[in-house]
Amino acid sequence: AGMDNTDLAVLCALILAVAAYMKKDIIKELLFSNDDAITADDSGSRDILQVMKDNNKNYLVLYASQTGTAEDYAKKYSKELAAKFSLNVMCADVENYDFESLKELPSNVVVSIFVATYGEGEFPDGAVQFEDFLNELSEGALTNVRYTLFGLGNSTYEFYNGASKKILQHMEKAEATLIGEHGLGDDGAGTTDEDYLSWKENTFEILKDQLNLSEHEQKFEPSFQLEKLETIDEKVSLGEPSLHYLPANKLSFNSENVQVGPFDINQPYLAPIIKTHELMKSKDRSCVHSEFDVSGSNIKYTTGDHLGIWPSNADEKIEKFLYAFNLNPDTIFDLKPLDSTIETPFPTPTTIGAAVRHYLEITGPISRQSFGSLVQFAPSAKIKEKLQNLAADKDQFHIEITSRYFDLADAVLHLSGGAKWETVPWEFLIESIAHLQPRYYSISSSSLSEKQTIHTTAMVESAPNPAGGPNVVGVATNLLKNIEAEINGKSTDSLDVHFDLRGPRALFSGYKLPVHVRRSAFKLPSNPQTPLIMIGPGTGVAPFRGFIRERVKYVETTENAKLGKHLLFYGSRNLDDFLYREEWPVYAKKLGNAFEMVVAHSRLEKQKKVYVQDKLTEREKDVLALLNEGAFLYVCGDAKGMAQGVHLALVEILANGKSISKEDATEMVKMLKTTGRYQEDVW
Ligand code: FAD
Repeated sequence: AGMDNTDLAVLCALILAVAAYMKKDIIKELLFSNDDAITADDSGSRDILQVMKDNNKNYLVLYASQTGTAEDYAKKYSKELAAKFSLNVMCADVENYDFESLKELPSNVVVSIFVATYGEGEFPDGAVQFEDFLNELSEGALTNVRYTLFGLGNSTYEFYNGASKKILQHMEKAEATLIGEHGLGDDGAGTTDEDYLSWKENTFEILKDQLNLSEHEQKFEPSFQLEKLETIDEKVSLGEPSLHYLPANKLSFNSENVQVGPFDINQPYLAPIIKTHELMKSKDRSCVHSEFDVSGSNIKYTTGDHLGIWPSNADEKIEKFLYAFNLNPDTIFDLKPLDSTIETPFPTPTTIGAAVRHYLEITGPISRQSFGSLVQFAPSAKIKEKLQNLAADKDQFHIEITSRYFDLADAVLHLSGGAKWETVPWEFLIESIAHLQPRYYSISSSSLSEKQTIHTTAMVESAPNPAGGPNVVGVATNLLKNIEAEINGKSTDSLDVHFDLRGPRALFSGYKLPVHVRRSAFKLPSNPQTPLIMIGPGTGVAPFRGFIRERVKYVETTENAKLGKHLLFYGSRNLDDFLYREEWPVYAKKLGNAFEMVVAHSRLEKQKKVYVQDKLTEREKDVLALLNEGAFLYVCGDAKGMAQGVHLALVEILANGKSISKEDATEMVKMLKTTGRYQEDVW
């Protein structure tokens, strides 16, 4: 049949329309559809407003995260906003964008900022440029901006929530309008989750009012399109720490099969543990010394840095999780972000089994908020009601879930009486469960004496559950314990949990773990004659072992070496958990009078409990004298009890010794901190 003129006209119009449409959406889709991780960089623009416009976003959530917690809250908040109010939310890491265009942000778009505080009131590492932008804001530069602010911090630190307070100041100067209250999450009090929940409820009420939002029942809107694949090929990740490690990419090995760097948080190095041993003398607790070989990797560290260790989950936990949500570990899937502002959370395509083992934080305490978001998938009306009640009742949630140390799988199985929750979509689990984060350890070797190996000292997290059942365990430390047992030919039968030590495609065999070095500000003074006061009970002694080994090496290799006094306060329960007990006398011999170790024991039989801060007070004259000589003071270990106790003891010592008021002494300690003469490495 021939085509008449009318048909041709219609066809022409159609082609034109399609071309116009293609220009906008289809072209974008075609461009992006094969990308694994679509980030701001991929779309070519770092201009925040441009990217929002390109993706039709009408709400902006920004986060600056150090360990992933702020990111986690920002994502939860974004998801809930989208699910309840049908907003088109863009959730972005401040690291990936430029913010000049915020000055032109339409005033009906609200910005919600989530920020963690790191070190002495500082911004997270990735927020350097964002901080510069804020610093340079002139008065009245952001009158168009309405924002909310939630900071994550720890009130046991001197500069509590410092980063979010700085943001508040800058935004006030720029005359942006704060919606609701400045939210403060306090990890020190262990209330971050509840702080967030009450802040969020209040903020949502105000937002509803100000943005005229209508609320509907929460409905999960996936950010990704999930595609199932049939076969595992070289592109499918089986839990590799980054896409570089996939056989298809071969970016991380050279022709001699040696890993090529540079290695950092985005590209960890697979370092073999070449030596490891148990440091505890009695069986009831465990602390593992591990030595990672980084020779040939070009990884450099300096004494006092941290090592990030990338763990994977334990077999027992994986099995329970897969059971609870009726998941098939062999399912192969890919994730396609639905717009270009969304990043794939981990290397894909991958398998459910690999994601659960290597990428998702399936254990650990659960928040009332994320638990509540499961309501929409409850397997029965009865369970739904139970869950709704629990999610709404802080106290009952504590009694029934938190105080029993339930993780997600425990909690859902508890609610359903052991029946599977097959109704929860896998996409939802991926998007609502935090991603497995590296754990940090204060390096306990010295870069002067051990250039090619990095030592860590890790307390194995395992405690009886007062509510009964198996011990409550930590991920990374039990993995290190398993490796310790395997390397030393011990039986692993009695260990709490077990791991696949071979890793994806046997990449970890030879007891390798993915690691990266994180620079820290916890550093020795450059002049070895500067006296040091070091306070590090328990594993807090880790960096001081590094400090002392550094001084030993210095003395061994320097003629007429002169050292200032190195006074180390150490604390343990008794002699069984006295870490590196046989090493200290060796160091003392090498360093002579320059090194002195003062030990406090808190659980020696028939003796009074003594803590490091008591010893500090006992030695107040020496402490004062050393401080007068310009000593540097270092505190490492438990942020909650110990670091605060030491801080208070020091204020006392200065007040008494210098006959000044406690207020003045407090000011003085603060001065020591701001000038870097009082450094903390606490967690
Ligand atoms: P995680 O899996 O992270 O668990 C954390 C805690 O939660 C554990 O106590 C675990 O038992 C508990 N838990 C598990 N499940 C639940 C549940 N359902 N409900 C409630 N609680 C639960 N540690 C050291 O030992 N040595 C160091 O030198 C050291 N240096 C550090 C330096 C820095 C800068 C930082 C930030 C931390 C440091 N840490 C150090 C702590 C370390 O990073 C880890 O946090 C710690 O080892 C626990 O890791 P994990 O993976 O074993 O436990």
